[in-house]
Amino acid sequence: MTNTTLNATANHLHPFSDNQQLKEKGVRVITKADGIYIYDDAGNKIIDGMAGLWCVNIGYGRKELADIARDQMNELAYYNTFFKTSHPAVINLSAKLASIAPAGFNHVFYTGSGSESVDSMIRMVRHYWDSVGKPSKKTLIGRWNGYHGSTIGGVSMGGMKGMHKQGGFPIEGIVHIEQPWFYGLHEEGETAEQFGIRAANWLEEKILEIGADNVAAFVGEPIQGAGGVIIPPSTYWPRIQEICQKYDILLVADEVICGFGRTGEWFGHETFGFQPDIFTTAKGLSSGYLPIGAVFVGDKVVEGILKGGDFNHGFTYAGHPVAAAVALKNVEILDDEGIIKNVHDKTGPYMQAKWREMLSQFKYVDDVRGVGLIQGFTLVKNKATREMFPNEGETGTMLRDIFFSNNLIMRACGDHIVASPPLTITKEEIDLMLATAEKCLQEFETAMDSKLGA
Ligand code: PMP
Repeated sequence: MTNTTLNATANHLHPFSDNQQLKEKGVRVITKADGIYIYDDAGNKIIDGMAGLWCVNIGYGRKELADIARDQMNELAYYNTFFKTSHPAVINLSAKLASIAPAGFNHVFYTGSGSESVDSMIRMVRHYWDSVGKPSKKTLIGRWNGYHGSTIGGVSMGGMKGMHKQGGFPIEGIVHIEQPWFYGLHEEGETAEQFGIRAANWLEEKILEIGADNVAAFVGEPIQGAGGVIIPPSTYWPRIQEICQKYDILLVADEVICGFGRTGEWFGHETFGFQPDIFTTAKGLSSGYLPIGAVFVGDKVVEGILKGGDFNHGFTYAGHPVAAAVALKNVEILDDEGIIKNVHDKTGPYMQAKWREMLSQFKYVDDVRGVGLIQGFTLVKNKATREMFPNEGETGTMLRDIFFSNNLIMRACGDHIVASPPLTITKEEIDLMLATAEKCLQEFETAMDSKLGA
């Protein structure tokens, strides 16, 4: 380990980490990045199969963004949009976002992150129902294994039991239904389409249990990302939409991962064919170059809120001029360079086919799934019986570490392995990423065979 590696944890507590273990084993220090590659301080060139944390959609090292940030910082480094003020960077970004958003979305509310977008959405949804004279509609329904951030609202809205356990979550007024995970939850003989309807109907059951007059919104990621890239069957979202309409409940899509091209459309709900009332974004909005998030608010909700007077909510850095200017350039690059269309027509289908083909040879891999440039598969002990490995997460972490030591970043979500490379990845780079992954999976299978005595 280099000196910087050893010093890295001396004064820093890392998020989502066992910090004692980090102090003992060290961390990898990433010093620069370009395209789909990151580089560490030991000189290793590493394929970033995760686009950072699912966010570097346009790839690393785009100098135009650095130039825009410098220019904006020189011109107006900071001002806020509270109390009857605005500034050109946020005005221009808002117009651009309204132009790329689906019909019926003409307003955004800015935040500094995905978690802040989710918290803002929770407060906005309750404010909306107050404003339209239905103050009893307060409960939000999320899903087990959903991820909506780490703030108190975000952790509650999410359905990560390991997170809930630390600190006593969820907060009052947030409940969960089961996730639409076909592989793990379908019944014998049930088709994916039938399962999709049954899974969506869990929402109706929950609404009836709580009483529609008490339910404010249903909140879900179009694809559950951090839950392991759980992709619902095609019937799921349309049925969810029907149920929300039937009981007068707002439908919220958390597009923090899916948004800005990941699924091959601007937004995941377009890929899955439903129309939310609100959707939350961050990550791909600036490709992670600077922290910024946005809640896209549909016309119906805007109309309600306009009746409600002051919305007593907002962040110092909401619509930060430098972040807004960088986000605008990022969205223009996604648009002008046809990056999302390329994901839809070319690299997405190519990567999907390649993963399926490559993974079919491995006996501990099942349920290979993906859309656009987001991919998941599950490690199972026995494919025939769909038996999972014991100690959920242990096997996933073992494979994740093999990828890591072979200079490929992939992520383990429990025993689901996921990939989400920059949207600018080329076919040749996909081939390289998969050749590396194949070698790692061979190493994993050999290790697992000997562990299981197979
Ligand atoms: N929602 C979803 C769907 C996410 O995937 C994430 C982050 N992975 C968040 C919210 C929280 O975003 P942030 O980490 O920027 O707060």
